[in-house]
Amino acid sequence: MRTAQFTEPAPSSPRALAHWSVGEIAVHRVDEVPLPPATGPWLLPAATPDVVAEHEWLRPDFAGADGVLHLDSHSFALVVDGLRVLVDTGIGNGKTRANPAWHDLRTDYLARLADIGFTPENVDLVILTHLHTDHVGWNTREVDGAWAPTFPNARYLTSKAEYEFWAAYEMDDARRGMFRDSVVPVEEAGLLDLVAVPAEGIDVADGLRLLSTPGHTPGQIAVQVSSAGATALVTGDAVHHPVQLAHPEIGSCVDIDPVRAEATRRALLARLADTGGLLLGTHFPAPTAGRVVAEGDGYLLEPVVAAPAGR
Ligand SMILES: [Zn+2]
Repeated sequence: MRTAQFTEPAPSSPRALAHWSVGEIAVHRVDEVPLPPATGPWLLPAATPDVVAEHEWLRPDFAGADGVLHLDSHSFALVVDGLRVLVDTGIGNGKTRANPAWHDLRTDYLARLADIGFTPENVDLVILTHLHTDHVGWNTREVDGAWAPTFPNARYLTSKAEYEFWAAYEMDDARRGMFRDSVVPVEEAGLLDLVAVPAEGIDVADGLRLLSTPGHTPGQIAVQVSSAGATALVTGDAVHHPVQLAHPEIGSCVDIDPVRAEATRRALLARLADTGGLLLGTHFPAPTAGRVVAEGDGYLLEPVVAAPAGR
């Protein structure tokens, strides 16, 4: 299914942010902010310092010597099938949020996107793995006191099941506010496309496939990129942190269906294990990506360091 058209030639080899090569495709990490140290113990309470200490490979990048998990917020940007694609849009700037780590940010996220030639006007496709606050923020930005789509010429894609779940959900004020400032304006501009994602997945462009990964939220999707025999998978929040490779049973406190979330996580990891496919963690701090290798009852992440900016 082809869901978007581009209006000008896409850059063939953007090379200004940290990136990984997946076949012919460069996948860039667009940094937003590191998340504060309190995030790990709140989000993944079973990942105690004792559990983390058992897995040497987590340190120093994914956890500190004190066992505190490192997490961050970023998007991935790539050009595939002639389309400039952004996967997830982070927390956003200037949004009123109860969580102080998310409240009223002032990051240079758009300048980082511009470094690879992505402008608000030329992004073709925005894929939202799920409709949580820290994945939809840059959907919109403030223009003249109102929230307007940041990428006015893009199609924004999310799964139909995800949208329909939240549409029927009894939201608290905070979540309703988030929808009002970050989802509704996109919908009202006619830019939101809802995709029915079957269990086996669905192609949305040549080399770009959405996979159904329910549990964290009912309609969550992961995004698979394929080129020249190589593949990469953007996890969304099916996996929040690499410690969940060693312990797939560890869930997050915000998983809506923890049993299903664990089954999805185990299936994703099994699918990737020992295939050489690249896992791109939506909240993994640098090095962010790696190959999944079976170890004991679980897995470990063999990091693949991004090529540095400017190369
Ligand atoms: Zn998240």
